[in-house]
Amino acid sequence: MPANILVVEDEPAIQELLALNITQAGHNAIRALSAEIAQNLIRETIPDLILLDWMLPGINGLEFAKKLKSDVLTKEIPIIMLTARGEEYDKVRGLEVGADDYVTKPFSPRELNARIKAVLRRRSPQATEDPIEIGGLRLDPTTHRVTGNQINIDLGPTEFRLLHFFMSNAERVHTRSQLLDKVWGDRVFVEDRTVDVHIRRLRNALSVSGHQDLIQTIRGTGYRLSAKVD
Ligand code: CA
Repeated sequence: MPANILVVEDEPAIQELLALNITQAGHNAIRALSAEIAQNLIRETIPDLILLDWMLPGINGLEFAKKLKSDVLTKEIPIIMLTARGEEYDKVRGLEVGADDYVTKPFSPRELNARIKAVLRRRSPQATEDPIEIGGLRLDPTTHRVTGNQINIDLGPTEFRLLHFFMSNAERVHTRSQLLDKVWGDRVFVEDRTVDVHIRRLRNALSVSGHQDLIQTIRGTGYRLSAKVD
């Protein structure tokens, strides 16, 4: 599955180069010239990864990373910081605010792609077809089999896609409209209420192996899959 990668870079030539790299690696590039523009784009769709330039006009990269990491809706999005500076101090500061990695400009396309791949593999397994296992619940995207502690779980196609999305984005909170967008696709006109119906069906199916509580309701926001109990 191609990943949606948001590029936040104010220099058009570098932005172009980054977007080209991303597209050639088989992913979708979404572009923003500033943190403010990026913020509006994120409100529409949560990207799978953000390439974030350090030196930006307005809100700079470091402040923006800090902001993303402090918001429940965006804190799980992996961030790779782009920096022209090579100083150890800046790298440490970037990683301290929660960036997953950094790339120093000028970068080689090969290095950039390797880093993107590594972060996606670590953080967004839906970009691969590998089986995912969380708290004894196992989903195999290739065979469409779901088991809970080795017990077979029967799911309808929508519940399967919903669970796949949740497990690929574990710990992240998703609003109903984000779920509609990601699981149902944006061309389908369904009501937010539909999400609740399918969540109920999914929980019912998961109760066969006692995994229904993995799907947590976040009051006033939406849903999340988590093996942790708050
Ligand atoms: Ca810049």
